Amino acid sequence: MKLHQDVCEVLYTEKQLQQRVAELGAQITRDYQGEEVLMVCTLRGACIFYCDLIRHIDLDIKLDFIATSSYGNDTKSSGEVRLTKDLSSPISGKNVIIVEDIIDSGLTLKYLKRLFEARDAKSVRICSLLDKPEGRQTDIEGDYIGFTIPNAFVVGYGLDYAERYRNLPDVCVLDPRIYAK
Ligand code: 5GP
Repeated sequence: MKLHQDVCEVLYTEKQLQQRVAELGAQITRDYQGEEVLMVCTLRGACIFYCDLIRHIDLDIKLDFIATSSYGNDTKSSGEVRLTKDLSSPISGKNVIIVEDIIDSGLTLKYLKRLFEARDAKSVRICSLLDKPEGRQTDIEGDYIGFTIPNAFVVGYGLDYAERYRNLPDVCVLDPRIYAK
């Protein structure tokens, strides 16, 4: 497919993403044998990853959705995480896997992990498609990581800039001229 005019590089192609997502699904299946797992999708960035991932998990899983906000229309976190949509059921006693698109500062996941632990989940793990360790401001680590990437702003495969580009099939680096405007 032709490179979108607003991106400067493809980091991971659709094919590379599919292969890695299948590996993550297989790893989760092995690690939770005989257990039930609640897969929590963080809206909206993780939605495409989540839909692909759950179909590679051969376990008794349930689905739920949560949304937070800290970026607005910016490429940097405001530093303050707000819950904009809560889960639809209690999670007490459940194994929870939070499915995230990307870990940057780690503030979002620190907030969610604390929230779920305070609600007495049996276990809370993090599965993130991407990890940007250079941006970290907390001690949060992912338990399942698709790819570790440099400190660039990426879009595609569910990730947006000002709600655009989520439908690009590849993970791409957004041209800095777009957000400098
Ligand atoms: P954190 O709280 O770890 O700083 O950021 C987590 C959230 O910030 C992600 O779920 C994602 O929505 C957003 N984010 C962080 N880095 C990027 C990026 O490179 N591209 C996009 N599109 N979103 C990002």
